[in-house]
Amino acid sequence: MNIGRYTIYPIEGGCFSLDGGALYGIIPKPLWEKTSYPDSLNRVQVQLRSLLLVGNGRKILVDTGMGLNWSEKSREIYNYNNTVNPIVESLKAYGFAAEDITDIILTHLHFDHTGGSVVYENGAYRPQFPRAAYYIQKKQFEWAQSPSDKDKGSFIESTFMPLMEANVLSLLDGYTRLDDEVELLIFNGHTKAQQLLRVFDNDTSLFYAGDLFPFAYHFKPPCIIAYDLDPLTTLKEKDDILRQAYKEGWIVFFQHDPKNTAVTIAKNEKGFTAKDIIPIG
Ligand SMILES: [Zn+2]
Repeated sequence: MNIGRYTIYPIEGGCFSLDGGALYGIIPKPLWEKTSYPDSLNRVQVQLRSLLLVGNGRKILVDTGMGLNWSEKSREIYNYNNTVNPIVESLKAYGFAAEDITDIILTHLHFDHTGGSVVYENGAYRPQFPRAAYYIQKKQFEWAQSPSDKDKGSFIESTFMPLMEANVLSLLDGYTRLDDEVELLIFNGHTKAQQLLRVFDNDTSLFYAGDLFPFAYHFKPPCIIAYDLDPLTTLKEKDDILRQAYKEGWIVFFQHDPKNTAVTIAKNEKGFTAKDIIPIG
């Protein structure tokens, strides 16, 4: 798919599993298990899908998956089995190498979004994408270093502090326009200052939904993941963006939805819902 001067590629980062209750919030299991099938430990499969934009002299990657620096215990808890970096492999399948990436937008610093940003070699961490400039919101970077007791399990300093030490991490302050076709929108319900990318031209607009809408199911207003710091802010942020996205015919690209890579939005008497599945890549 092409939008403006950019060609868009979905980059598959493998999958892991999270507790179904945490993912679907207050939605009763008899409702969500009709479409999402939990395993014997009540875990639901979650995709790790990044996005690559190529054009305008840049190769921009959004988020880096979970990487490989995982203990056996954590791999078991999260049902994460990759032993080669799936993001790097997926890039290769399109003919790109880690060295080709010029920019990395980290939506936020939860381990499933920045775990693949660094690689551990010879007793030290180094950036996985050696020529890339990495971008994070300043408020998110500060929060990640002293999170609350509620969300501290989502941050692993070794997945992002080495970027700062290597001098490749830039701190952004609020809404950012990368160029005339790419912008970063800020959301505060899930965590402090999650930045979600939109790429657009006169005809088409694609929004990377990150943890604002992990699955298309999260279009439903009360379906808010239990990880969110401020669910009422999420409720408003979802409504605001769905109204705009529906009105302007945006494509919503899902990072975590195993079944839907990208959809358009329909509206019925119950609210907003996924419409057409859009092929990307
Ligand atoms: Zn998150």
